[in-house]
Amino acid sequence: MANNELNAVLTQKIMVSPTLAIMRFVPDGWELPEFKAGQYGVLGLPYSAPRIPTADPLPIKDPDKLIKRAYSVASSSVVKEYVEFYIALVESGELTPRLFALEVGDKVWLSHKFTGMFTLEEVPDRKNILFVATGTGLAPYMSMIRTNLECNSDRYFAVFHGARHSWDLGYRSELNGFKRLCRNFEYLPVIDHPEEESGRWAGETGFVTKLWKERRLKDSWGFEPTPENTRVFLCGNPMMIESMLEILKAEGFEEFNRREKTGQIHVEKYWA
Ligand SMILES: Cc1cc2nc3c(=O)[nH]c(=O)nc-3n(C[C@H](O)[C@H](O)[C@H](O)COP(=O)(O)OP(=O)(O)OC[C@H]3O[C@@H](n4cnc5c(N)ncnc54)[C@H](O)[C@@H]3O)c2cc1C
Repeated sequence: MANNELNAVLTQKIMVSPTLAIMRFVPDGWELPEFKAGQYGVLGLPYSAPRIPTADPLPIKDPDKLIKRAYSVASSSVVKEYVEFYIALVESGELTPRLFALEVGDKVWLSHKFTGMFTLEEVPDRKNILFVATGTGLAPYMSMIRTNLECNSDRYFAVFHGARHSWDLGYRSELNGFKRLCRNFEYLPVIDHPEEESGRWAGETGFVTKLWKERRLKDSWGFEPTPENTRVFLCGNPMMIESMLEILKAEGFEEFNRREKTGQIHVEKYWA
């Protein structure tokens, strides 16, 4: 198979909102690679692929050249039939307006290898885990939760998920389901534009940083998360990552150092 041949089929496209989609792809005649929950694959489409009509117009470069971008896998690493991604539309972007124009049955280029260090591999089993995300930064956590969550164990998990509106909170039902079923799992979604809601929003408002500052984990876990007992994962908007790093570092947490195996904060940046 030629390197740039479109080699995977879109089998499901769930529009969470007009600018957020959950997309499932099935390899066309090859097997999905082994991967660790939290890793990313690469999707590609040629410049000749159509863009959604509302996207900003951009000049078409070499029509056959593939535009390739990284996407964190959202499906569990034990699922072998398909791979799922949670993708935000960037109207001025090169690839996402083309991905959003795809229909079920259309083909994309999908990397044969999934890679990345943003995994639970270097986290000791006994550490509790806080996943902090904005937007599609939730994707790698969905894979980790779907793969690694053990309900009602002594290891505590929590997800802080920030979005603009309630309708931008992808995977909300699934995460609420885990919360209902697992006493060791907390899910706290938070929206920062409540004034734009069409109905009453009874949940949290503001930013994910507020949930940390208000010690919301102590309320739900029953103990304070500390550098000794908890690892914190950060993924999403670079500003959120910077703010959380500042707050956490002031409380004694440090960024994880892979070589020296020190630190408790694991970071994945989607863009600078
Ligand atoms: C390791 C890794 C994993 C990633 N996983 C995901 C994922 O699971 N889901 C996902 O939607 N994106 C993910 N991304 C971002 C993705 O690779 C693309 O950058 C993004 O889809 C934009 O591509 P584009 O070609 O449309 O825009 P480009 O033409 O590449 O324009 C990029 C610009 O768009 C902005 N941008 C990029 N991503 C976003 C975003 N999510 N929201 C708002 N603005 C953005 C930034 O300003 C960036 O400089 C990941 C990136 C990395 C490095």
